[in-house]
Order: sequence, then C-alpha cells, then structure tokens
Amino acid sequence: MDFAENALAGTGKSSQSGRLELIDVRRVFGNYNALDGINLAVEPGEFIALLGPSGCGKSTALNCIAGLLELTGGEIRLAGKRIDELQPEARGFGMVFQNYALFPHLSVRKNVGFGLSMQGVPGAESAKRISDALALVRLQGQEGKLPGQLSGGQQQRVAIARAIVIHPPLVLMDEPLSNLDAKLRLEMRAEIRGIHDQIGSTTIYVTHDQDEALSLADRIVVMREGRIRQIGTPQDLYDRPNHPDVADFMGFRTRIPGKLVSVSGNRASVDAGGVRLEAVAPGHVSVGDRVLVSIRPEDLVAVDEGEGLKATVNSIEYRGRAFFGLATGPDGSELFFRADRTYPRGASIVLRPLAERTLLFKEKA
Ligand code: ATP
Repeated sequence: MDFAENALAGTGKSSQSGRLELIDVRRVFGNYNALDGINLAVEPGEFIALLGPSGCGKSTALNCIAGLLELTGGEIRLAGKRIDELQPEARGFGMVFQNYALFPHLSVRKNVGFGLSMQGVPGAESAKRISDALALVRLQGQEGKLPGQLSGGQQQRVAIARAIVIHPPLVLMDEPLSNLDAKLRLEMRAEIRGIHDQIGSTTIYVTHDQDEALSLADRIVVMREGRIRQIGTPQDLYDRPNHPDVADFMGFRTRIPGKLVSVSGNRASVDAGGVRLEAVAPGHVSVGDRVLVSIRPEDLVAVDEGEGLKATVNSIEYRGRAFFGLATGPDGSELFFRADRTYPRGASIVLRPLAERTLLFKEKA
C-alpha cells in the first residue's frame, strides 16, 4: 500500500474530513477588525487559496482555523461540528509555515514523527507512516540529518511531511514557499499540489502571490481589509473580477476614472477626461454613473498617434515577446502599457485599450 492509500485507509480522516464552514468569523486586535465577518464553506478535498495584500487578514483567518487564535465572534464548523472552541491539538490539523518551524535539535525522522508520538501511535505503524511521508516528499535517505544540514527546499519538505503524516482532515499552509528562490518555488508548487491530490486532504493555502494562487487552487478567496471580496475558480477571478481591488490583484494595473456615456448590449462607452474608451459592461451600471476602467498592461497598446489616451513615457523594458512600460496621463494617472518597440523616456504616445478585455466597475457613490 502506498502512502496515499495508507492515508485514506489509516485513520480514514483524510478521506472523510467533511465540509469546513466559517460563519461570520470575526477577530479584533484592540479596536482593529482584522477579520470583519468571514463566511466561507470549503468542500472536502478542495484546495483553497486565501489571497490578498499584506495585512488583509489571511494569516489571521488561517490561525483562527488552526486554533492558534481565538475568535472574537462567529463559528467554525467541521463536518457540522463546532471546532472553534477546541485546542489546536484536538483539531489535529497539519500546519506548514513560511519559516518551516522545525525542531533544530531533532533529526528529520524525529521531526516528522513528532506529532505521531504525541498522538501515541505505536512504533511499527509510526515508522511506516514516517517512511511513507518521507517518500512522498522525496526525502528518503535524509532521515538522520538535522534541519540545519538541509537546504531551504528540503526543510520545507520536512515540514510538509510532518504536517501530512498525522493524516489531518485539513492541511493549513501559510506562505510556505516565500523563503525559497524562484526556481525552487515553481518546483515545490507543483509538488504541493501533487501531494494534495495524492492524499486527498483538504488544503487551505495563504499567499499574496497571484500566480501561486492561480496555479494551485481549485478556488481562490480574495481578501481585503478583513473581508472577502470575491470567491471563485482561478478562471472566474482572472476573467471576471467583480471589484476593482480584485481586478488590481489579477493584473488589471491601470485604473482610469470616467463617466459612463452609453451602454449597448455588453459594450459600454466611457468618457475619460474627454477621451472615449470602450469596455465590457457589467450588468448593474447605467448611463451617467461614475466608473473605473481597469486594463491589463498587455491589453493597453502603444501607438505613435491617432485616437486613444495621450500619455508620456516614464519607463519601458523589453520582456521577450514585447516591450512593457509605464506612462503618465495628462491628469497624472499611471498607465501600464505594451508596445512593439521601445520609446525614449519623455516620448509622447497614444494608448489604445482592447475593448473586449477592458473592464468597468461602478465607483462607490
Ligand atoms: P501578511 O501577508 O503580511 O502576513 P496577512 O494578510 O496575513 O498579511 P494578518 O497577519 O492576518 O495579515 O494581519 C491582519 C491585520 O491584523 C494586520 O493589520 C496586522 O497588523 C493585525 N494583527 C495581526 N496579528 C496581530 C496581533 N497579534 N496583534 C495586533 N494586531 C495584529
């Protein structure tokens, strides 16, 4: 029996973890609302990414689920049972942190087996489970080493093995790849998803890296200021962000304020400081609304002259297939654009958005 089958057969927890529900979860620090009413349901076996900028409450949410932080309000349920009053050990979740949090004086094998000895798992079974977990993270042969004798990537594998060896109903990961270099991050990303698929557990993964969330998760939860802005599949969020903040996170870096002047079908026309821009119209806007137009750099194309947004080049760089740059509009707005050739700093250019890939959001009144 390999580790995956073992994980499912052993305690059986991984295969029957049940639905995790956060119901109006709140956490206050002093008078600051770090979590301001979080509602989320995670299905067994799902890989969920909590994505958002620094300080939005991702780690606080994860720590509340883990039991490392008490809630100020709301409930957390697993398979219908309330768990938010249980101690972390009683929840039995696997945790992986950015800084690995390994015991420096214990060997790899003892680090991985620590949770099992705490649970009183008998020696022979424990030995088998540790070996299976080490095989899954490809660390066979390293069992006797101390953490200090391993590379960063290997240490993180030990932390992952330690988290999954207990067959947890939930694996919680807080920016586990942030301390690794870019190449290793890519490799470990694929491995983390592979391990999740093999053991069939439910994973909640905190990151501020949009690419990581898009490539790993079944669903992404975008957070901002202690609240959930949007929940959706990677494709949903990438193509149809429902809020300018989410759009910003999904790469729509240019934001241009304007006024909606006409809507026809799913196409809207916006007056942005005297320039007419075409965009995809969301359902809930009407003529006269103040709106925000959001565009990705690759969809805002520089031309030498003609119709479009007049701008002055600040900086430009070659990125393989095309040039990407930053220009300033007449009102001082930052415009992130693509070009087929380079332009000198200070050059006057005209930027044209691709209408079918330009989004529009209603501004708050
Ligand atoms: P990062 O990616 O930087 O870790 P995050 O989204 O995980 O950010 P949290 O660590 O959850 O953010 O913090 C959310 C907010 O709560 C922040 O403003 C933070 O300063 C505050 N906060 C977190 N922990 C505490 C604490 N123990 N005491 C006081 N304030 C806290």
